[in-house]
Amino acid sequence: MNTIKSWPVPPVVSSYIDGKRAVPGAMRLPVINPATEQQVAELAEADAAETTRAIEAAQRAHLDGRWSGLKAQAKREVLQRIARVTSEHLDELAWLETLNTGLPLRYARQFQLPRIVRNFNFFADYLSQHVERAGMDDDAYLRFVLRDPLGVVALISPWNAPLALASTKIAAALTFGNTCVVKTSEQTPLAVSRFMELLSEAGVPDGVVNMVNGRGTVTGNALVCHPAVRGISFTGGTETGRAIASAAAPALKRVDLELGGKSANIITESADLDRALDAALAGIYLNNGQQCFAGSRILLSRKIADDFIERFVTRARRIRLGDPLDAATEVGPLAFESHYRRVLGFAELAREDGNTLLTGGRRAEGFERGYYVEPTAVLARTNSTRLCQQEIFGPFATLLVYDELDEALAIANDSAYGLVSYLWSERLDDTMRAARALQTGVVLVNTNMTLDFRFPFGGYKDSGVGREGIEGMRQFYSQDKVVTIGLRPPAPLPFGKS
Ligand code: NAD
Repeated sequence: MNTIKSWPVPPVVSSYIDGKRAVPGAMRLPVINPATEQQVAELAEADAAETTRAIEAAQRAHLDGRWSGLKAQAKREVLQRIARVTSEHLDELAWLETLNTGLPLRYARQFQLPRIVRNFNFFADYLSQHVERAGMDDDAYLRFVLRDPLGVVALISPWNAPLALASTKIAAALTFGNTCVVKTSEQTPLAVSRFMELLSEAGVPDGVVNMVNGRGTVTGNALVCHPAVRGISFTGGTETGRAIASAAAPALKRVDLELGGKSANIITESADLDRALDAALAGIYLNNGQQCFAGSRILLSRKIADDFIERFVTRARRIRLGDPLDAATEVGPLAFESHYRRVLGFAELAREDGNTLLTGGRRAEGFERGYYVEPTAVLARTNSTRLCQQEIFGPFATLLVYDELDEALAIANDSAYGLVSYLWSERLDDTMRAARALQTGVVLVNTNMTLDFRFPFGGYKDSGVGREGIEGMRQFYSQDKVVTIGLRPPAPLPFGKS
């Protein structure tokens, strides 16, 4: 018997502007449950006029200082209340997220969603500890630096971890005194939309956090191009990142771009192979493989490769695919149909390019409906094959064999992307050499992905510009203003005296 609790889903998801739901417009898009392929709601797309109304609400809220003018302690209390209210609704939010994305509920509830609570508490703590500093520059001047908010910021995020990604941006924007307009993916708006109501319940003043929904070319573009938007924090695909950066450039808007990845997971002969195996499987199959930091290129030392591949494939075949709401499910359906078809298309490419399909590469059997792909592993012929160069963003591992560590490092760096690399080694010299050589913003040694906002997270090369960590976020979401006070009469410059 299915005892999973469910929550109401609004028939129409509309924008959230000035603390209220907008009257839904005529343009509607379906919101689909990827496990059943059934429509669960409609999304009312915000056109340019509605997007402008959201930006104007954020601008009014910025200009009258209802948020930026609050004392740090008052802001901190609101962030703490957001953490509390979110933690009281974690089951509901995780359920909505799973219903809409296909991410297994057990992982959403256990990892992604509790992190939101921790994030808001993290930023609340930051507010209690951070003060501006002043400095005396000899006895002539007193100078100090004030940090002002940017103003209205656009927060644009994708569908693979909708609430975790959008809420991190919201927490950072609020911490540094901004008002914002959020646009999550048109495919997966449910949990983020519900979160807007929780923010109001927690005491965020009306107009400070607004949300618009719709396609990138319509709603996203209207948001990016509006002159009142001073900064755009974007997480999503590299091509979209380029389009946003180009659209933002003429108005000199600040952009933070957290983009795609094709991360190498190097497993050396000195690695603890049991731990490395568990991590390699989790690194590519967790969250259905739809993770920017997935360890999608697994590079194996020839000395351990045969045995490792055999064990990897055996385990991949045993992964429990199923209804993402079922607590036993390890991999659920992909988030939507076109993405599912694209991922399956890579199995075709794998064959065309002469790679060896080790397992999977097909629609999973036994499911009448839903976008299920078998956990897949391919032994690649070379790193230049399309499988190794393009981000697949699904439960699709590509394995390569190398002889020397230098070769593995060269393969790892032979990528347009530069987000994350993983290394499994028990040798300090190899570890230090790799840490220096790898061209990625994040290097993880003997561990899966772990995030700590005291440290920067972000990519090199096509994986992005900017960093999501407290310092990078401070740089992005606020700006310096230096104030200089003369302490002595200025040197005489007697214009017009004689
Ligand atoms: P996407 O780029 O298609 O869409 C992301 C968001 O941008 C969506 O809300 C979309 O509607 C919007 N958008 C699209 N075109 C736009 C435009 N012209 N102007 C403004 N907004 C526009 O990405 P996706 O397919 O939703 O997400 C998957 C990608 O996100 C993958 O490449 C993944 O690696 C990346 N990602 C990166 C990180 C990171 O931290 N680096 C984290 C998660 C996902």
